[in-house]
Amino acid sequence: MQGDPTQAYIRNLFAAEDSALQAARLRHEKENLPAIHISPEEGKLLLVLLHAVGARRVLEIGTLGGYSGIWIARALPPDGKLITIEHDSKHVDAARRAFAEADVSHKIELLEGDAREVLRRLTPEFDAVFVDADKEPLALYYREAMRLLKVGGLLLCDNALLDKRVVDRADDAADVRGVREFNRLAASDVGLAATIIPIRDGLLVGLKLAT
Ligand code: SAH
Ligand code: MG
Repeated sequence: MQGDPTQAYIRNLFAAEDSALQAARLRHEKENLPAIHISPEEGKLLLVLLHAVGARRVLEIGTLGGYSGIWIARALPPDGKLITIEHDSKHVDAARRAFAEADVSHKIELLEGDAREVLRRLTPEFDAVFVDADKEPLALYYREAMRLLKVGGLLLCDNALLDKRVVDRADDAADVRGVREFNRLAASDVGLAATIIPIRDGLLVGLKLAT
């Protein structure tokens, strides 16, 4: 992985990968999964934030090959749980292998199916929700995440800048509209303190203040 020297400095100093993370990332190329996983620096940021709220029960929407899932699982205590949702069976297979190699399978429950359906079955409360799947239904994911989060819980959403397309007024595609709507809901919700950290493709971070 390259990137600019500042990112490389942060990555090398704070977010060095061990062999399990490296293998999970390299599997994306080898098995033709889209290489749209989070970066190591973003993984480390998730880990710090999850520790900050003492997260024990976390929900992820969009597992892919399990790269972010490993970072999240490592932030949890031994009896902590990550519930992660993925609808592509090829991704599910890759993620299961990644979790086994990283020795975090016992902390993870992988729910295979369409998040729009699976989310309805879930019950509160979660200490954090990491939203990182398809962009069109983001308004629905916002409502479900806020329903499932406890007060004091963390709302996290990847690709909050969508390759800077959110700031291009001429871009009115369905995925951009989804991201803009999620950002607008998070910004205007009096029950949430939120902002976007411009790391990689933008990470929206919010703290649920009230129901
Ligand atoms: N969080 C991962 C990257 C996720 S990429 C990481 O950083 O390592 C987005 C994933 O969401 C893809 O694997 C895609 O198959 C999945 N996805 C997209 N729409 C979905 C839906 N409606 N339900 C469940 N999974 C979905
Ligand atoms: Mg993403």
